[in-house]
Amino acid sequence: MSKTYNIAALKGDGIGPEVTEATIKVLEAVEKKSNIKLNILYGEAGAHCIPQFGTNLPKETVDLIKQTNACLKGPMTTPEEPGAPVSVAVTLRRMFNLYANVRPCRTFPNVESLKPNVDLVVVRENTEGMYSGMESVLSPGVGVALRIITHEASLKVADFAFKLAMQRRKHLTYVHKGNILRVTDGIFKDAVKEAQKNYPDVDVDDLHIDAATMQLIKQPEKYDVMVTTNLFGDIISDEAAQVTGSLGLAAGANIGPSYGMFEPVHGSAPKYTGMNRVNPIATIMAGAMMLDYLGEKVASKKIEDAVIAVLTEGKVRTHDLGGSAKGTEITDAIEQKI
Ligand code: NAD
Repeated sequence: MSKTYNIAALKGDGIGPEVTEATIKVLEAVEKKSNIKLNILYGEAGAHCIPQFGTNLPKETVDLIKQTNACLKGPMTTPEEPGAPVSVAVTLRRMFNLYANVRPCRTFPNVESLKPNVDLVVVRENTEGMYSGMESVLSPGVGVALRIITHEASLKVADFAFKLAMQRRKHLTYVHKGNILRVTDGIFKDAVKEAQKNYPDVDVDDLHIDAATMQLIKQPEKYDVMVTTNLFGDIISDEAAQVTGSLGLAAGANIGPSYGMFEPVHGSAPKYTGMNRVNPIATIMAGAMMLDYLGEKVASKKIEDAVIAVLTEGKVRTHDLGGSAKGTEITDAIEQKI
């Protein structure tokens, strides 16, 4: 008997609609070749909603998400003016307690990368830190942002990262700036050490964030699972994505106790809107991560294998991979492999 899943699809802004539609096309191709049924429910979210709804995340969309098993989220533009609605991704991560942001970065066959044989995962705390949204003006020209770090959230994300390390090469690196941020990163470091007691088989080391950005260029192949706080994780996952080839290949999962949201690591790249030029693979791989989260490992692997087959052949390459193919051409090639 086939299993049915309700999936919320939020196309987002900029290049969001084209990479999300590409992913749905690939998911539908997998559906035909598997014993699963995906019931895609479309919701509106993103900067384009603000004029109509007065918010980038209408209540109808939140209600729709609540009826689903997982969410596929396209990238969205976040206005930067003070007082503008906060990022949809940040809101959804907090609303659904999606405390672990999982961002795998690995080299792919036939894709030029800074170093070969990289296969690491950045696990980023996703609900607090510098993204707690508490920023204010103290006096004219003086602003403060609260970097909230709790033992509870740090322990949860550390435990998640250790579990992941156990399924991989059993090596965990925690990244912090404890020499300067002694209180907040002190709490984070203590939580990692507490979680470590339950995973004696995992080799553990640590890096300061500045050294981590350097090490990711110098010897990224050394790392397996890197766990860190919110802002640091956002930065090093973009860096690791580019080290392994392109931001256009990097997918991310936002995982909580009862829900998962899946999206590319990249943003809405507004300057490429409607040009059919960007790489949809990051979002397609987010779709594969979503199927894996739902327990549909075979279907997930079908997508991953198809992406790897297309990259290995190297006949269809988007601009970020040194080619001139359109986004829809690489999507069609992946669909055909499935
Ligand atoms: P961005 O990731 O949108 O783009 C940076 C650059 O990366 C692009 O100019 C392009 O050269 C490259 N790039 C991105 N996606 C690509 C793809 N699929 N294929 C090939 N190249 C790709 O980052 P930005 O310019 O800093 O942000 C633009 C907007 O996106 C902002 O409003 C920001 O707030 C938002 N954003 C949203 C999310 C999210 O929705 N989760 C994440 C990051 C940024």
